[in-house]
Amino acid sequence: MKQIENLSENEHYSAVNLGSLNELMDYNLIHPVNKRLIEGKVFLKDATKATGTEVSFNMLPPHTEQPYFHIHRKNEETYIILKGEGFFQVDEDCFQIKEGSVIRVAPQGKRGICNSSDETMIYMVIQSKEDSLEEYTTADGERIPVEPKWR
Ligand code: ZN
Repeated sequence: MKQIENLSENEHYSAVNLGSLNELMDYNLIHPVNKRLIEGKVFLKDATKATGTEVSFNMLPPHTEQPYFHIHRKNEETYIILKGEGFFQVDEDCFQIKEGSVIRVAPQGKRGICNSSDETMIYMVIQSKEDSLEEYTTADGERIPVEPKWR
């Protein structure tokens, strides 16, 4: 099984590398609840020591679907389709998705995803606690003077 590569780490950051997105299939994990093997999925919270979000990279081979629909208890999810095309369903609504599609799903939305194309679908999922974002975009940022070391 493929391992996440640590790039650099210090008090205020953790940097990792997943490798080529074309090799996501080499990652797999055992689902903590149903103990099933999940191929082509990698979670980043532990590797990056994230405290407010869980990010995963996922892949679906051509003409396959996630084998189950699911909901969450507290977390909303944002799906970002990076490659491929197919369908996304939330509750009774089903719609087409493709590279560049972004879908935010509330915790109780019954969600499923399928790849109906001839190419591998690659997508990210960002999971965070619903209604936890208090300050955002530029309201939470602050410019500071730093001389870049890459020059
Ligand atoms: Zn989920």
